[in-house]
Amino acid sequence: MASLPTVAIVGGGIGGLFAANALIAHGVSVSVYEQASALGEIGAGVYVTPNAVRHLERVGLGPAVESYGARVGPGSSYYRHDGSFIAPVQVTDADGWNACFGMHRADFVELLASKLPAGVVHTGHCAVGFEQTADVARVTFANGAAVEADVVVACDGIRSELRPYVFPPSKPVFHGTISYRGLIPRERLPDWPMDRWQMWAGPSRHFLVFPVRHAAMVNYVGFMPTDEEMKESWSAPGDPTVLRREFEGWDPRIDEVLKQVDQTFRWALYDREPLPGWSKGRLTLLGDAAHPMLPHLGQGANQSIEDGMALATMLAQADRSAVPAMLLAYERLRRERVAEVQLGARKHGLRVDSATGDLAGRDAELAAHADFRKALYSYDVVPLARAAAAQVLKP
Ligand SMILES: Cc1cc2nc3c(=O)[nH]c(=O)nc-3n(C[C@H](O)[C@H](O)[C@H](O)COP(=O)(O)OP(=O)(O)OC[C@H]3O[C@@H](n4cnc5c(N)ncnc54)[C@H](O)[C@@H]3O)c2cc1C
Repeated sequence: MASLPTVAIVGGGIGGLFAANALIAHGVSVSVYEQASALGEIGAGVYVTPNAVRHLERVGLGPAVESYGARVGPGSSYYRHDGSFIAPVQVTDADGWNACFGMHRADFVELLASKLPAGVVHTGHCAVGFEQTADVARVTFANGAAVEADVVVACDGIRSELRPYVFPPSKPVFHGTISYRGLIPRERLPDWPMDRWQMWAGPSRHFLVFPVRHAAMVNYVGFMPTDEEMKESWSAPGDPTVLRREFEGWDPRIDEVLKQVDQTFRWALYDREPLPGWSKGRLTLLGDAAHPMLPHLGQGANQSIEDGMALATMLAQADRSAVPAMLLAYERLRRERVAEVQLGARKHGLRVDSATGDLAGRDAELAAHADFRKALYSYDVVPLARAAAAQVLKP
């Protein structure tokens, strides 16, 4: 076969770094260009689930996930706002494989970067332009540099600079919700159970706690309504007193957590309607650049990992001339799955905010939600990506 295409990734977040690992594991030559002067992430947690962990394992990152993460297990539960039990939370796939981990975001970025060969990641490169011919794609950067590759993958997040080169700009959807989140060292909550994911569902609000960093820290997120429409992906320090007030009178266990909050960050919640297209010629989108979603299923990062694995599996079967067709096949494969998860996250957000007011109905839906999670976690994109690539290459 002719030589494999070369790939330039724009954006060194979770999506871009995992895609680089997956491409290298498939023998594809790749470079990552990140605007920041150093790789890093905010001080908050991210929940990593079996549908992504199976790919982290496949590229050799399984042991790192075990050592950086905090595995959550069978005590994981939904509660009413007063602390009474509603239902267990599904933490395995359909085969009973328990691979749900709480992870510090900075740890996750570090582990994804740790296995990349020296020279793959180029920091201080902010992409400002893109052009392509039938044969090659070219990205230009604010520092005056330019790179050419057979494929450019825009992994540059929710406010993607490169997305308009694929599809005309679209308006983000604001959901009238804000989240306050942060981390608390375990020593300050010595009796907190560090082996489970726990969520309290109440009127117009919900509260989530899970462990991170090998159970050395507790991650909390409080979601609440706001009238104030903010910039997409806007984040700023929040006032712990306001956060405490929002959950006053809820389960005393939430009080116990909130008493320990000295510093918290606010985050406005946006997503976008599923995009009609992700690829144009030799340029494609991945992760939040393609499909920003609400965090209510904890799937934005997990879906970006599925994207990366699908793309790597498919490009490993392409030569340079097959790239545009392969990228369209990647987009077809991923768009349907991701749209289902995006819409599922919206629905679940309304459910855990008790939006209909029918609390018995909400509880029944939360109990039944285990089936949705089981199917979500059991999905394996690799055989589907192989079949989709074979279809492209069929004479
Ligand atoms: C409150 C909240 C909780 C969440 N919880 C979870 C969870 O539990 N589980 C989960 O799976 N997901 C969760 N998510 C979603 C998840 O954080 C995102 O989906 C994920 O981080 C997206 O990764 P990404 O690499 O696509 O984008 P990003 O993480 O945004 O990375 C984009 C990268 O591109 C860089 N960049 C941007 N522009 C340029 C440019 N012009 N040139 C070069 N580089 C550029 C940025 O600096 C950044 O490093 C949550 C989101 C929120 C808001």
